[in-house]
Amino acid sequence: MSQVSKKISVSFEFFPPKDPNAINSLWANIKRLEPLDPTFISVTYGAGGSTRENTHNLVKEIKKKTNLKPAAHLTCIGSTQAEIEKIAEDYWEAGIRDIVALRGDKPKQKKPFSNDFRYATDLIALLKKKFDFNITVSAYPEMHPDSLSLEQEYDVLKKKIDLGACKAITQFFFESNFFIDFIDGAIKRGINIPIVPGILPVTNCKKTIEFAKKMNCNMPKSLLKMFEGLDSDPDTRKLVAATIVYDQCQTLISEGIEDFHFYTLNRADLSFAICHILGLRTLKD
Ligand code: FAD
Repeated sequence: MSQVSKKISVSFEFFPPKDPNAINSLWANIKRLEPLDPTFISVTYGAGGSTRENTHNLVKEIKKKTNLKPAAHLTCIGSTQAEIEKIAEDYWEAGIRDIVALRGDKPKQKKPFSNDFRYATDLIALLKKKFDFNITVSAYPEMHPDSLSLEQEYDVLKKKIDLGACKAITQFFFESNFFIDFIDGAIKRGINIPIVPGILPVTNCKKTIEFAKKMNCNMPKSLLKMFEGLDSDPDTRKLVAATIVYDQCQTLISEGIEDFHFYTLNRADLSFAICHILGLRTLKD
C-alpha cells in the first residue's frame, strides 16, 4: 500500500449492505479509501438484527483481505449475556481487537426482550471482563434524546472511561460550536480520552432532517437553504455537501482538532474528496 503524508487522521464508517449485490460496490468503496491509511474502518451493527451476521462477516473479511484495522460496532440492548459473550469470543479468536460498544436503540416491538443489558456501560463491563478489547464509545454534544442534561452525558462518558473505554466518537452535528463546547466541558471535567467528531456529509437532505430530529441534532436554516431546489439534482447536492463538510472540518481544524470520523454512508467518493482537500495525500499523488 502506498504511504500517506498527513497532518490529520481519519476513520471511516460503513454499514453492511442488506442486498448481496451491493457487496462489490462496498468493497470498491473500501478499497478507494484504503490508501488514505485511516486509523480504522468501522462497521455498523443493525439494531433490528437484520444485518448482524453481515457485520461479523464483513469485519472479519476486512481483517483478512486488507491492511486496514476493522472496528466492529456492537449493540447490546435486547441481547442476552450469552449471545454477546459468543460474539466477543468469535471476534477475539478472529484477531479483532477494536469494538465500538453501544447500547443501541430500544426495540420498538412490544414482545418481551432480554434485559441483561440496559446501557452501553453494561456491555463495556462484560467485554472488558472477558477480553482486552480497545473500546470506543459514543458521545453526544447535543445530548442523546434519552438524556436529561448535558451533565448526564459527561457522567456517562466518565463511567465508560472508568470501565475501560479509550476513545469516543460523537453523534454527527452541523453546528461546530456544540462540539467545541462539549470538548471544553470534557476537559474541565478531567475527561482526557480522544473525542473524535463524527462527520456526516449530507447528500440526502430529507432523510437527514428526519434522522437529525430523532437524534436531537440541530440543522441550521442556512444549511437547509443550500439544498433548496436540489431535490432532483444529486450531482449538485454532492458538490454542496463537499463544500459544507470542508467548511465544518476547517472550523474544527482551526480549533486544534486533527482526528475525524466520517459516516461514509457507503459512498467513498465524497469522503475521499474531502480528505484530499483537507490535505490527506497518498504518495502516488
Ligand atoms: P448509552 O451510552 O448507553 O446511553 C443511552 C442513554 O442512557 C443516554 O441517555 C445515557 O445518558 C443513559 N445512560 C447510559 N449509561 C447509563 C448509566 N450507566 N446509568 C444511567 N444512565 C445511563 N446504533 C446501532 O444500532 N448500530 C450501530 O452500529 C450504531 N453505531 C453508532 C456509532 C456512533 C459513533 C454513535 C454516536 C451512535 C451509534 N448508534 C448505533 C446509535 C446508538 O445505538 C443510539 O444512539 C442509542 O440510542 C444509544 O446507544 P449508546 O451506546 O450511545 O447509549
